[in-house]
Amino acid sequence: MPMKILSLLVIAAMPLGSVRAADVLPLPEKVTCAIPDKQAFQQPDRVHLTGWIGSRMEVNAKGRLAKIRPERLIMSYENRPGCQSYDGEHIGKWLHAATLAWVNNGDAELRTKMDQVAASLLKWQLADGYLGTYNLEGKPWARWTEWDVWTHKYNLIGLITYVRYTGNKDLLPVCQKMGDLLCKIFGDEPGKLDINASSAHVGMASGSVLEPMVQLYRLTGEKRYLDFAKYMLRAWEQPNGPKIVSVLLEQKRVDKVGNDKAYEMLSCINGIIEMYRTTGDAKLLQACLNAWQDIVSKRLYFTGSTSAAEHFHDDFDLSNTNKVAETCVTVSWFQLNMHLLQLTGEARFADQLENTVFNHLFAAQLPAGTGWAVYTVMEGKKVYYNSNSTPDVTCCLSSGPRAVALIPCLASSVDAEGVVVNLYDAGTAKLTLRNGKTVLLTTETIYPSDGKIVISVDTEAATPFALKVRIPTWSRTSTLSVNGKPVKVEKGKDGYAAIKRTWIKGDKLELNFKMEPRVIVGERSNIGKIAIMYGPLALAADEATLGKEGMAIGAISIGKADLASLAIKPEPAPEKLKTWPHALVFHCNVIANEKPQEIRLMTFADAGSFDESYKIWLPLSRNVLVDGTETRSRKGDGTGSIIDENETTFANTSDGTWPKEDWFAVTLKEAKTITRVVFMHGKTLNVGGWFDTTNGKPHIQIQTKAGGAWEEAGELKEYPATTGKEPGPLKEGESFQCQLTTPAKVFGVRVTGKPSFGGNPNQAFSTCAELQAFAK
Ligand SMILES: [Zn+2]
Repeated sequence: MPMKILSLLVIAAMPLGSVRAADVLPLPEKVTCAIPDKQAFQQPDRVHLTGWIGSRMEVNAKGRLAKIRPERLIMSYENRPGCQSYDGEHIGKWLHAATLAWVNNGDAELRTKMDQVAASLLKWQLADGYLGTYNLEGKPWARWTEWDVWTHKYNLIGLITYVRYTGNKDLLPVCQKMGDLLCKIFGDEPGKLDINASSAHVGMASGSVLEPMVQLYRLTGEKRYLDFAKYMLRAWEQPNGPKIVSVLLEQKRVDKVGNDKAYEMLSCINGIIEMYRTTGDAKLLQACLNAWQDIVSKRLYFTGSTSAAEHFHDDFDLSNTNKVAETCVTVSWFQLNMHLLQLTGEARFADQLENTVFNHLFAAQLPAGTGWAVYTVMEGKKVYYNSNSTPDVTCCLSSGPRAVALIPCLASSVDAEGVVVNLYDAGTAKLTLRNGKTVLLTTETIYPSDGKIVISVDTEAATPFALKVRIPTWSRTSTLSVNGKPVKVEKGKDGYAAIKRTWIKGDKLELNFKMEPRVIVGERSNIGKIAIMYGPLALAADEATLGKEGMAIGAISIGKADLASLAIKPEPAPEKLKTWPHALVFHCNVIANEKPQEIRLMTFADAGSFDESYKIWLPLSRNVLVDGTETRSRKGDGTGSIIDENETTFANTSDGTWPKEDWFAVTLKEAKTITRVVFMHGKTLNVGGWFDTTNGKPHIQIQTKAGGAWEEAGELKEYPATTGKEPGPLKEGESFQCQLTTPAKVFGVRVTGKPSFGGNPNQAFSTCAELQAFAK
């Protein structure tokens, strides 16, 4: 459908007489930022998206934000202390996301709900300004412990956004009373509490209140809130503090900050950026840039998020299965890139945003918009939570909608030279140049299902300005034309291709990015595997398409990893898998059940949303042990298998005895040629479960004759140093590889090592999640 007709329909569908979001300009801040944004944050009603991003925004607003029951949000305030120690956060997170969504779509019912929820916060605020969910008796949670300041943070974020966009100043005193209470309670003057001691994660949960306290200062001009923000930065550097700024400046590693908890740390870093924007203290920006660089170079999944088991880890330590990329982390990573894009105007941050939005963010959102995953693994299943699940709300279910609602604030923007397009989607952007003139951009595209993007320009009169477009870093062939005439694609210092001319109504800019597949070769724990991207999209094999073709996900391997052999070609998704009208699946040649087969890959964003298992990293050869028979030195007391291709189940040898050696073996009826063996550690318990390496690393042995003797084939060199009592840095689900010196034809493979005892030296045992062997 042509874009213009579509936007007319949207306008006609608006309820007449409702308060239109666009009628209200955000309340201006009293304090001017020391550092003006290079790219302006756009009010969310300026940009209307109707393509893939637009469809995900629509379901976010209608399927989640508008559906929420206000009673659920206020439940823990009505009956303090409520059901979880952090249950107070959800109302502020919802108010933030719902306000942005309402400004974008003008939904009158959503506005009514927002007014109701915001007014309830006024009702539940205590006389001293307290607006948390902990009760005065201090049971089970005493005030100013765990997630109490954190709840005030989200109430401030939600209410400040609501007050600014609705113009309802009646609720500003609620924010100020919260701010005043925090100023009164916490500080380094005598008689005040130490904020580091008020929460988990070395005080980083409480510390993230920096962000809205700086915003409250700018909105009100009251200096005491700035003083509090300065105290916050001092508190972090106290002996018991997380040392966020100093570690980021000196060591430039996020995994060395505080207890390396990712969500809380990134939330603090988003506060540091607000402080830089407000005060202009350049070292604060440097600290944030150092964090960004460290994450991008060493701690980022190629799918655009970070953290495993909710923490930052050692360089390149990115698990495929262990609580991958908490959605709260994906959202705060999105926010960090958004801030850096606005402050620096550099396209590299918009590139990260595209990757995050199309991959890890949309992968966490159920395509219907009603649910969100807490973790989005690289292989396995997605577990979505919604209003009817148990639990009916999670930190991530409240966080995900915030990032989606923020998209129109940065999809297009304005800078000193003109307008900038950061994210490509069909729709319109009504932008105001710095000289006050209005520019309307109308985009027609089905990107990223196709690389053609046509942007029509509409101006009041002929106006000279630059139209900047982002040339994605993944695009190797990009063409650009204006009114049909080719223009050379040249990136400026800021990374954008700028077309500077006098634009008049009807001018058309056409971009073409050649959409191509590319292969990412696995390293470290993904050695022997490849991942495939198509343009900006990460692809995955999913049993929702494989099952129909009679294949299990564990049976799939890649025969030849070159693009010609893989023959990846996009095709329209079958009706059942169409999550938006232009959804694609991707033909790909693989080996399954030892025969060449054609399968259809899906986008990571859609994979797992049909309740099936999926896998992003595809093995170059199949694990030959899945056809074998497993045995172990002792039966143990569990039921898990080491050849079920399920890394969350494990076998153990625990039987109350303490032998010198344990082994886990898999034998085969027919000999198979292998070149490497992978052992995956199972569980670390307080009474053992790992191999004790005091006398050497665990060994890999092979059987080259059916039922023959076990021969030494090598050791797990990377297995960390442990003792019988201590597991050292070993992590659950961690895998270790043994490369054979020459290919071997084997009837069996086993891992052997010394069992561990932990805190109970009357016994010892070990565990194994998977034992695998590959030809390549
Ligand atoms: Zn979360």
